Amino acid sequence: MILSYLLHGHIPYYSANPPHPDPLLHAKLRDSPELINVDVSALTDHFAASRLSYSTQALPVNVLLDTLVRTSVDVDELESSTNVEWRFVPEKAVPHLVFGDAVHAGGQWTDNLMPASWDIQTLSYASMLSLPGYSFAEHYRKVTGKDLPAYTRPSREETASYFRTYPEAVQINDVFRFHETLSGISRTENGFYIRSHDIHCKHLVLASGIFTQVLQPSPMLQPMAALQPVPETPLLVIGSGFSAADIIISAPKDQKIIHVFKWDPEGRSSPLRGCHHQAYPEYAGVYRLMKRAAVAADPSKKRVKMRRTTSTPFLETRSWDEVYEGLPNTEIVGVEMQEKQAIITFRQPDGSTLTRAVRGMVYATGRRGSLEYLDRSLLSEVVGDATDISPIISARTLRSKACEDTEVAPNVFIIGSLTGDSLIRFAYGSCVQAAGKLIDARTGKERVRSGSNNTSRPQSSLGVMRGIDGHDITPPSETRVVDNDRMASTLPQRVMPNGLWRWLWRWFDVR
Ligand SMILES: Cc1cc2nc3c(=O)[nH]c(=O)nc-3n(C[C@H](O)[C@H](O)[C@H](O)COP(=O)(O)OP(=O)(O)OC[C@H]3O[C@@H](n4cnc5c(N)ncnc54)[C@H](O)[C@@H]3O)c2cc1C
Repeated sequence: MILSYLLHGHIPYYSANPPHPDPLLHAKLRDSPELINVDVSALTDHFAASRLSYSTQALPVNVLLDTLVRTSVDVDELESSTNVEWRFVPEKAVPHLVFGDAVHAGGQWTDNLMPASWDIQTLSYASMLSLPGYSFAEHYRKVTGKDLPAYTRPSREETASYFRTYPEAVQINDVFRFHETLSGISRTENGFYIRSHDIHCKHLVLASGIFTQVLQPSPMLQPMAALQPVPETPLLVIGSGFSAADIIISAPKDQKIIHVFKWDPEGRSSPLRGCHHQAYPEYAGVYRLMKRAAVAADPSKKRVKMRRTTSTPFLETRSWDEVYEGLPNTEIVGVEMQEKQAIITFRQPDGSTLTRAVRGMVYATGRRGSLEYLDRSLLSEVVGDATDISPIISARTLRSKACEDTEVAPNVFIIGSLTGDSLIRFAYGSCVQAAGKLIDARTGKERVRSGSNNTSRPQSSLGVMRGIDGHDITPPSETRVVDNDRMASTLPQRVMPNGLWRWLWRWFDVR
């Protein structure tokens, strides 16, 4: 939607009044304010040394547009302004079509692949979910007649409603084709051919995301998901990220839970680790439960009692010792289905086994995207030449290519979460970059495929949502633990509605 807005002729310019708080960036942009086709390296090469806390994880072009679109949002959401002015320049419009298999606008926000409630709040503040030309705050005002309170994290439903309305609100709905699945896309002599729709085009922009497919449990585990949970028999929750935590948090207080999770704090730690106990008490609380279980399971570690100082109100809401059993790095080696429950055999890291009766299962170990709509030859151009290339992709798959250039093959661009920066706030950069090249191609300007995203800054670790995944969520005054790509950094409480559990019930009912 951001790219389509640009291609309709809305061009971003640096707006110098008031100047961006980074005086160097202001000086670089003051006299050449057009933000399409900028030299990203030249504009961002001072970011690492700046006193402003620029993300060191996201692509430089994404960081650049983020800081210009939402100046100071990480420091003060209330006072955050913008240094971007969108000018309508119809002669720069580029004809295009946008296809999506969702029933309406909003990509992965249009459905709910996990048993997560529509009431659940986003991790991002509304300002970080806003698209150009019609902000979430404007939408909120239009729908409710009220001003959006600061630090609002809208529900999934409210966010989906905003995205659904967006194309019409900014008058770009003429190009959207919903409920259409593209397949069989191949390169031709002059461009590309889309077999499923018998369409030829000159350029291809891939925006299919990395969250369309939920990882499935092995066939041995699948029958368990059909059993509807009851409080007195443990529900099995598998996963170490936000989705697993959401289920635990919103379960009835007396629901017994067995939680199987990966525990590798030195290597790939849980995304919950970055959640500050003031900003996200429930996520921080679940992380502490996991940590306590991990310590208890490791005989080399001293058994620790949860310290009062780091307990959270959330942890005091239930008798966790009675309802929660955490099993870190535990393998399920046997499932015996009975009429109303399953008897599971677990193998623990030390090789010992234990059995438990469970009823119901939520498998929440992650999601992937798929590029299977590209034919084999185009797929290998996009992903790489290895013989075993797979169309199934994660945030990492195209990352090194995106670090070089979001034009990952001649005239093929990737935008949004495919670049490895999955947050909406970081989608502007790749869209502006693609738009610049498409506008140039349309207006006949010479252009070079250049590695404009590459800087000397380290690109090794991804600051994308890890898990659903993964934000470093730390109040501004605190030391940052994971990275700078946090979603929200101040203190509003995350109100967990009972709705999730009600929804989960219905989810079990329909399966
Ligand atoms: C549970 C969850 C919560 C999240 N919360 C936040 C948050 O709070 N804040 C935030 O900034 N980000 C969040 N994200 C990250 C998410 O990446 C972005 O919000 C955003 O959805 C990324 O947009 P996208 O356009 O890259 O991809 P998507 O939104 O995934 O859209 C891609 C669309 O393309 C469709 N598609 C794929 N293949 C085809 C095909 N062959 N033909 C037609 N259509 C196809 C897909 O079905 C999908 O509808 C969350 C992600 C998840 C999974």
